[in-house]
Amino acid sequence: MVPILRRIVTSSEAREARTSTAMQRLRVVLFSLRSLTFSSETSRAVVLDTVFEPVFWVIDHFVRILGPAFVLLVIGLTTSVVVIWYSFVLPAILLYTTPWIVLHIATAHWLLINIVFHYFKAVFTSPGRALQDSNSNLENVKSGKYSICKKCIQIKPPRSHHCSICKRCVLKMDHHCPWINNCVGHFNHQHFILFCIFMCLGTLYVTVSARNLFIMHFFHDWSRASINNGKNNSTLLHVSSRVKPAGSYRDKEESASKSEHRCILFVFMLCSSVTLALGILTGWHCRLISYGETSIEWHSNRDDAKRLRKKGLIFSNPYNFGVWNNWKMLLGLVNGRSWLCILLPSTHPPYGDGISWHPLPNDLKKSRQGKLHIV
Ligand SMILES: [Zn+2]
Ligand SMILES: [Zn+2]
Repeated sequence: MVPILRRIVTSSEAREARTSTAMQRLRVVLFSLRSLTFSSETSRAVVLDTVFEPVFWVIDHFVRILGPAFVLLVIGLTTSVVVIWYSFVLPAILLYTTPWIVLHIATAHWLLINIVFHYFKAVFTSPGRALQDSNSNLENVKSGKYSICKKCIQIKPPRSHHCSICKRCVLKMDHHCPWINNCVGHFNHQHFILFCIFMCLGTLYVTVSARNLFIMHFFHDWSRASINNGKNNSTLLHVSSRVKPAGSYRDKEESASKSEHRCILFVFMLCSSVTLALGILTGWHCRLISYGETSIEWHSNRDDAKRLRKKGLIFSNPYNFGVWNNWKMLLGLVNGRSWLCILLPSTHPPYGDGISWHPLPNDLKKSRQGKLHIV
């Protein structure tokens, strides 16, 4: 009996020992694997970046190759809207009273000039490049004020980021915009946001000025009305009478072609959609500018705020100089330039060099006097 019991105990101990040895070996293998793959910069974001690297590569190449096509698309669509407005909307406006005609023509051309100017400035203005390897810049790298980009090995001042599409570091990078085939950075940010604002106003203006024509063409059988020479279209005439005060529009209405019908539907739907979509985007960018953030910083600032909140601390953005001042800095409204400077095309640069960030001269004076506390 005793030898049998001893045998059972011995075999159970041996099994435990084997299991323990196997576990130890597994721990060693796992530890070795971790040692081989360990990185102090390993985080969820880095892992996701690594996993999605091939996807980003495809998107980057797609955006880079199709960049000029996006620009041509913007130019083509804008030109088509302008041509349709001159061909079909303007003749209806010319039947208004003189003050209304002057107001319409002045508004339309003011918006068009600003849209074209700011679009081409946003496309062709360099957003600001990384720094050269001068002694002073290298000293700033040593002191930790600047960093070195791991991708293009250039000196990177604060707020600069590497654009994988342009393959370079950009000063105060906001984002790479395929619609302008350029990065939005320190030196063209003002043109980008002004283009967005004027484009929103322009498409809104076209939507409003073409609304009566759209109502006629969309809600009534325009083709039948044309065929019947306007004999059975009393509703149509009722609507068109709101478009033009005089009765001479009847002739044009009767001779309306299918192409006019398509053009009116196209221009109204395109402009109303762009107003909505671009309006949301522009509102978002205006909010970021008001808080002194770029699109990239919005992500990092949100993470920093969350991290500090857990420690009972409050995050303070060092580049936020107040809503008013943030806009003045972005739009370069310094040295006597007023807000009127942005109503007409102007090539003046933004405030600062995109490398170091200081309050506006007037505010600096006030802060020295202890009247302003900048966080
Ligand atoms: Zn870089
Ligand atoms: Zn870029």
